Amino acid sequence: MDRYEYIGHLHIHSNFSDGSGSIQEIARAGREAGLDFIGVTDHNTLAGREEGFEGRQNDILVLIGIEFGKEKNHYIAFGVDKLPGDTRDPQKVIDSVNAQGGFGYLAHPGEKSNPAFLGGKAYPWDRWDVKNFKGLEIWNFSSIWREAYHKKTVAVFWFFADRYRGGRFPEPETLKKWDILAARRPVTAFGGSDAHAFPVHLGPLKLSVFAYNFLFRTVNTHLLLKEKLSRQSSRAREQVLKALREGSFFIGSDYYAPTRGFRFSAVNRDEEADMGGEIRRLPDTVLRIISPSKQGVVRIICNGKLVCESRRKIVVFKVLQEGVFRVEVYWRPRLGKPIPWIYSNPIYVKEQKPEAGRQETE
Ligand SMILES: [Zn+2]
Ligand SMILES: [Zn+2]
Repeated sequence: MDRYEYIGHLHIHSNFSDGSGSIQEIARAGREAGLDFIGVTDHNTLAGREEGFEGRQNDILVLIGIEFGKEKNHYIAFGVDKLPGDTRDPQKVIDSVNAQGGFGYLAHPGEKSNPAFLGGKAYPWDRWDVKNFKGLEIWNFSSIWREAYHKKTVAVFWFFADRYRGGRFPEPETLKKWDILAARRPVTAFGGSDAHAFPVHLGPLKLSVFAYNFLFRTVNTHLLLKEKLSRQSSRAREQVLKALREGSFFIGSDYYAPTRGFRFSAVNRDEEADMGGEIRRLPDTVLRIISPSKQGVVRIICNGKLVCESRRKIVVFKVLQEGVFRVEVYWRPRLGKPIPWIYSNPIYVKEQKPEAGRQETE
């Protein structure tokens, strides 16, 4: 059964914290970029929600989440109504979010400092003893971009020559960490741009460094729903939160080419699993992948290891072992190396357990 696909951008800062745009301006930029929803996650405040900015604004759904944390250990959460009493201990923040029925992600966990930006400050995650978070931000466009160039002059050159280039891949160490964690329990991939649209004055010119409408073509969240997104705000909010909670989405960077149309599911004679789901390994269990373009290279990763690479648009892969399966698709430019393009959430394939009272007839 096909799914309805909705494209959104998560991890955005408005002028309720240190972003430059109002939520109305950000929503307008989102509509111009063709997005169906946005997730505004201001630092340590839910003011956007309290002041009534959550909900449908014409054709775009605005969700208000939050980014907790000051120095290290930033935590992005959705589905929360109040701030935890103690935000210094990341585990207490995670527990408070979960107790409210919300969920969250470790933000830019592998961020590295670069003397050329933010005075050499970085905001990585260093409390790997925490439990019960939903996932990891595997790709944070701004964070990766700031790591790319160690000289300001080089950064300025690339900003004008190809401003996407510096942020064109997820953090490799975070991907490894994700595979290790997901082997133990379901862990969802999260991505975004960390949009702030900082204003910069260049002589008489006032430029927006990485304007919202530019960033909304980068690391996007593509949700796959079983039913259409409701026109009603509260129902649509629930639908988006449910899909995020279940991991029924992929991260697609729509900058070079649209990633709309990517699909990844697993099927056997008894059941079908979407991204984020679980399926038993039967003799006929296969993964089905649709790449949105012939210019893609599909890579299937099982337990952190590459098990298949294909340039086909449709890939059917017979599953011979249990494990955590996820898919990456790279975009092949005319010249140069394939560029990271799509990161699916995993499907968890479990070995069939013998069931009491059931006879196999094969
Ligand atoms: Zn942050
Ligand atoms: Zn942020």
